[in-house]
Amino acid sequence: MTERLPLMAGNWKMNLNHLEAIQHTQKLAFALADKDYEAVEVAVLVPFTDLRSVQTLVDGDKLKIKYGAQDLSAQDSGAYTGEISGPMLAKLKCTFVAIGHSERRQYHGENEEIVNAKVKAAYRNGITPILCIGEPLEVRKAGTHVEHTLAQLDGALLEVSAEQAESIVVAYEPVWAIGTGEVATPEDAQEVCAAIRVRLGELYSAELADKVRVLYGGSVKSSSAAGLMAKPDVDGALIGGASLDADEFVKIVRYRE
Ligand code: PEP
Repeated sequence: MTERLPLMAGNWKMNLNHLEAIQHTQKLAFALADKDYEAVEVAVLVPFTDLRSVQTLVDGDKLKIKYGAQDLSAQDSGAYTGEISGPMLAKLKCTFVAIGHSERRQYHGENEEIVNAKVKAAYRNGITPILCIGEPLEVRKAGTHVEHTLAQLDGALLEVSAEQAESIVVAYEPVWAIGTGEVATPEDAQEVCAAIRVRLGELYSAELADKVRVLYGGSVKSSSAAGLMAKPDVDGALIGGASLDADEFVKIVRYRE
């Protein structure tokens, strides 16, 4: 079995202006500087207006923090007012981009076709997608959460090659757990994360599935991180609200301590 490097990614959502972003990133860097954190990859997914500030800090101070955006356009350029393209993010040296977050699906009507086009746009531009999938509460109550989530995975990866998919990060984010304070149990997270890995094996190969990192997201806090990370198919977390508190985010990153 491949040793998968855990990934802790903070999703700042629509919070922190570029000055606050500098302060916050400096706090993270300071708090993570006293130990060697190569054992965990740390990333922040920030508003577009913060990217340049975060890039300057990370590059200038050679910080180990990775960064990326929360969305991108499916198009690379053109008459798409208000959109931000893959080439623009690549120029800012983004490592990651979140795609298909439930808030994009809910408030911006993003369906599987759009999510699939955005995944392809990310790969076209050398950016690693953090693909967000997961079921709403009514689907969970109906007991069809695994099927629902796997259908989203299938749709997002349509015509995506194995060479590309090998680097994808999949975040299982049950919608009922996002921003609600109601974290999934480690067993619930493991059930779906394991099913995602099995499906990746069916779509591509067991070898690829073994390499791909599958994260859990939804109200993760420092009190729940270690329990989730103890599960064999949970390779990290996507952290929203708690990532805005630098001390709390750092505690999550240090879930092993
Ligand atoms: C998220 O935004 O992806 C998320 C998981 O948010 P929260 O941690 O606040 O539930």
